[in-house]
Amino acid sequence: MILDIIIVGAGPYGLSLAAHAQASGLSYELIGFPMEFWYKKMPPEMFIRTKLQNTGLSDPNNSFTLERFSKEGGIALDYPLTRRTFVEYGFWFIYKTGINVTEDYVTSISKNEDIFQIHTSNGREIYSKNVVIAVGLTNARYVPENLTHLPSSLVTHSSDHINFHSFKGRNVLVLGGGQSAWEVAALLHEAAANVKLVYRSPMRLSSDKETNERQKYFADKFYFMNEVEKEKIHLELRKPTVADFLVPLVEGKVQKFPNTRIKEVLQTDNGKLQVFFQKDDIVVDHLIAATGFKYSLYKLSFLNPILTLLETEVDDKPKVDKNFQSTISGLYFAGPATAFSHGPTFLFIAGVWHTSKTIISSIGN
Ligand SMILES: Cc1cc2nc3c(=O)[nH]c(=O)nc-3n(C[C@H](O)[C@H](O)[C@H](O)COP(=O)(O)OP(=O)(O)OC[C@H]3O[C@@H](n4cnc5c(N)ncnc54)[C@H](O)[C@@H]3O)c2cc1C
Repeated sequence: MILDIIIVGAGPYGLSLAAHAQASGLSYELIGFPMEFWYKKMPPEMFIRTKLQNTGLSDPNNSFTLERFSKEGGIALDYPLTRRTFVEYGFWFIYKTGINVTEDYVTSISKNEDIFQIHTSNGREIYSKNVVIAVGLTNARYVPENLTHLPSSLVTHSSDHINFHSFKGRNVLVLGGGQSAWEVAALLHEAAANVKLVYRSPMRLSSDKETNERQKYFADKFYFMNEVEKEKIHLELRKPTVADFLVPLVEGKVQKFPNTRIKEVLQTDNGKLQVFFQKDDIVVDHLIAATGFKYSLYKLSFLNPILTLLETEVDDKPKVDKNFQSTISGLYFAGPATAFSHGPTFLFIAGVWHTSKTIISSIGN
């Protein structure tokens, strides 16, 4: 059997795409682990910073909203919402829309004439006319080069941790000036670690309500703007910021080192880290790099068979057209992969509505 569409990835983008594909009568398969990134790579008891009215997945009639989930389940919606609640909402969305999710990983995608051939880690072979890649920031974590020589027992990335109990009583340096760094610092403090938060620039608080509105506003306009306008929006919506609800969890509880750069980090003879700044140095037990993610097509090995056919934009992002279609006909990208061409909106949940409608109507026509 040849399907109309295979969706790779079952996060907010994949689930929304499947809801639209199903409602359009397209034959589809959605492959991935539901909301996996949200419960395996982020501490679930921490908060989602998006305002409640902008938090949600997309189905064609906008029937299965966060508000309805709250009403039907008797779940109070207070801002900020915990990630655990957002994950529960994702599972409720799957149940209510009746979409099918196959819990498996895609291991390779190739194309023969007009048909894509997909292999999975469970040994399946599936055929489809179209494929959408919606794997979010999978394999994209970024650790600065001057830390990569150190062992993972001493240096980890923020996405390696969903709880911090093992750091009780230890001296931990958190590197980074954005939301993840402040979150990690707050959770380490709660876990009774001694925390040093090191960042290069002054911390910026974000106005999330306004940011969410701007993200939504630009979703369908950014692609058609000129380069100067695009650059302005990238600068406005991509800079690292911290949500105000994190401030009381960190302020006065964590030792902060603003305007500080790490020059070098060495492993000491007794298994600790000596961290050198511009002028002085400190010794800590562990360093957590809350230094974000850098998307690259080359980090997704399942694309290897078709990689040479994919044209890229800046920083190894796939080149996509106004319908999110790549330079391989029938192969689409959704989510953070499209944030260069379609704008910063697509780094966030705010992009699910425009992406799902656009891709599924492009395939359905
Ligand atoms: C710490 C942190 C906090 C964030 N907070 C917010 C926030 O408050 N608001 C907001 O809007 N955004 C936030 N984001 C951004 C968030 O990543 C995106 O909004 C969203 O998760 C992107 O959704 P996605 O569907 O593209 O991918 P993801 O949610 O990352 O899901 C990826 C999916 O791909 C699947 N997958 C991976 N590899 C394969 C494979 N080989 N085969 C099949 N499936 C595969 C996984 O199983 C998973 O289902 C945050 C990000 C981070 C890191």
